[in-house]
Amino acid sequence: MPRLFDPHIHMYSRTTDDYQAMSKAGIEVIVQPSFWLGSPRRFVGTFEDYWENMISFETKRAKEFGIEHFTCISVNPKEGAARPLAVEAVDAMVKNGYLERDRVVAVGEIGYDQINELEEEIFVKQMNIASERHMLMTIHLPHKNKLKGIQNLERIMNDNARSNKTKHDSNKMLIDHNVEETIKQTLEMGMWAGLSVYPITKLSPDMAIKILAKYGTEHVMIHSAADWGRSNPLSVPLVAQEMKKSGQFNDNEIDKVTFTNAIEFFKQSPKFTWNP
Ligand SMILES: [Zn+2]
Repeated sequence: MPRLFDPHIHMYSRTTDDYQAMSKAGIEVIVQPSFWLGSPRRFVGTFEDYWENMISFETKRAKEFGIEHFTCISVNPKEGAARPLAVEAVDAMVKNGYLERDRVVAVGEIGYDQINELEEEIFVKQMNIASERHMLMTIHLPHKNKLKGIQNLERIMNDNARSNKTKHDSNKMLIDHNVEETIKQTLEMGMWAGLSVYPITKLSPDMAIKILAKYGTEHVMIHSAADWGRSNPLSVPLVAQEMKKSGQFNDNEIDKVTFTNAIEFFKQSPKFTWNP
């Protein structure tokens, strides 16, 4: 059976049946970034309870199915424009030590949703928090206008490199929800690229395979980004199978995008305590 890693999945919204199926399909380790719960939050306390739930309860729940679970903590891009809530929540995240907790391997997901200045303020603030602590970050490309999202990120990186602002290490940045139009730029900037494979809309397994055939398997990883919406917690095993069937990739290349690249990336964090 292949050994698999899903580096982006929101188990908060999934059932024990999903865990069972994931375990059966060979998924050994997962990373769960902070997401938007589906309705606007009104209190800082709901962020804190959510982070606590992921760090403690979800890690234990995954373990019952033989799956190692790690988390990324953040105020999600979809919550970034709320004022004063987003600012207060980021302050609580830092002040109350969530980033120092066991198995918190990155700040994320952070980034843009609608792409506006309020979101960017919270995005940049969280990028700085990550880099000042030498932490990894997982960055969400917006579902609409992805190209503008990646171009804005490049502008932020260049601004910081030229000035005396906080420097960001592109090797510690994972850019998720890449598509054909953004992956080249992500890889050229020296970052890691995630491909979110969904069953119906957005990026299908076929589209992901085309991208891998064109741009290669270095620094790229497949994930499900499964959440409340139409998504598939078995996207990683599915893509592994489809890659094999296509005859375009050898076992090492399949292994890279479904297991070892994600290990390479996350083991840069001392909190990624799992050994394959
Ligand atoms: Zn996500």
